[in-house]
Amino acid sequence: MPEKLSPAELQRYSRHLLIPSIREEGQLRLKNSSVLLIGCGALGSPAALYLAAAGVGRLGLVDADVVDASNLQRQILHSESWVGKPKLESAVARLREVNPHVIVEPHPIRFTPDNALEIAQAYDVIVDGSDNFPTRFLSNDTAFLLRKPLVYGAIHRFDGQTSVFAPHLGGPCYRCLLPRMPAAGSIPSCQEAGVLGVLPGIIGSIQAMETLKLLLEIGEVPLGKLTVYNALDSSFRALRLKRDPNCRLCGDHPEITTVGNQETLGHGSTCTPADTPMQSITTTELRVLLAGDFQGLLIDVREPHEHAMNHIAGARLIPLDTLMEQIGTLPSDRDILVHCRSGMRSARAVEMLMARGFTRVKNVLGGIDAWLDDK
Ligand SMILES: [Zn+2]
Repeated sequence: MPEKLSPAELQRYSRHLLIPSIREEGQLRLKNSSVLLIGCGALGSPAALYLAAAGVGRLGLVDADVVDASNLQRQILHSESWVGKPKLESAVARLREVNPHVIVEPHPIRFTPDNALEIAQAYDVIVDGSDNFPTRFLSNDTAFLLRKPLVYGAIHRFDGQTSVFAPHLGGPCYRCLLPRMPAAGSIPSCQEAGVLGVLPGIIGSIQAMETLKLLLEIGEVPLGKLTVYNALDSSFRALRLKRDPNCRLCGDHPEITTVGNQETLGHGSTCTPADTPMQSITTTELRVLLAGDFQGLLIDVREPHEHAMNHIAGARLIPLDTLMEQIGTLPSDRDILVHCRSGMRSARAVEMLMARGFTRVKNVLGGIDAWLDDK
């Protein structure tokens, strides 16, 4: 364990050393820390670059992919001359260039239930930069079983989300948010839906920041707080998440005790509400329903100031960031229709409700904008 920084390191990290809560002691703490990055793609790229630049002593990278020309629009670790070559070789070369004081440990394999615990046990913090549900569940279960913090991030077209899952420190795990594997096709992947190039830079950088905070033990760990960024309306929202006492992993009576399970093996599930693709309804259909004997619940997940400007008569206002708190007040035996301004936040709300077992829930396509146009 080095107890002092070299003159070259003192110079390199001088802007950290000026910060009273870091100083040389904090920088040494980073130097003696280790982080495992799962995936060197869209999220892993900015996270790895910033963590290396900041002086995290040992960075483990897991990825078995090859650089493809279609990666370069967002995976900023890689460049043109590496197309067709392993991502890990590209990453190692680039990170050594960024900071030669950092030890980069490549694991050129897929992260699977067979190797997850063995790889991850050697690191202090796990950063999930994966782009698929089985790996995301596996990262979560591995981190939980090893009692290590998991820095979570996910992206979709124009919006992204991050949190830190560390039930051993308090708060929920990823499975408390999404108990089961969504059905194939119900939530499109990046490959199917696309992603705006800068978005992973923002979310991956937040993951790097939360990782540094964890290692330095400064600030507040966002346990039970999901940060949702929407690029189109330039908003950051904080959704409060609670640990689910019925969670199959971190709940009071856990069923999952190993990393090899239905979700991590990619088997999905055949009998859960999450298997149902998201249902939707047009504003024309909504108008017909509301003019009749509608017994269900219409929810407006916009913010109070938006609701005050215009709203659909009878809609109950539950801003998206309070949905999880109010979930207990929602009926599971009646239809629930959810709208927002344009249909994006409400789609997120419908996903959240479906993941919590609500089956009679539909998204109002185009939101109140479509409703007003439709008049
Ligand atoms: Zn949980």
